Amino acid sequence: MSRSLFRCPRCGKGKLFKGLLTVAERCGECGLSFAGHEQGDGPAFFAILIIGTLAAVGATIVEIRYEPPFWLHAVIWGPFVVIGTLWSLRFLKAALISVQYRVRKQDF
Ligand SMILES: [Zn+2]
Repeated sequence: MSRSLFRCPRCGKGKLFKGLLTVAERCGECGLSFAGHEQGDGPAFFAILIIGTLAAVGATIVEIRYEPPFWLHAVIWGPFVVIGTLWSLRFLKAALISVQYRVRKQDF
């Protein structure tokens, strides 16, 4: 059983997102409402924690080993932070909705 994380947690077919980061109102396949999910700042907190740590540790290691000019750091870590944050936010939102569906089904 390999169900995509970005699909409806009940049927595994309908899309969970209607945009890059916007959660759909309900599943297009089974009609499950996604309105009950409560996320607050959970995904953003974990995204900042993970991507911020990776970027800080990565930049420190690169600086110590290679001592590159500052602009190279900007070229490497700027896109890393932007793309990493968008990807991890989408992933973390989907993961938290999936967990909430399993733990608190009555809210859906
Ligand atoms: Zn569904």
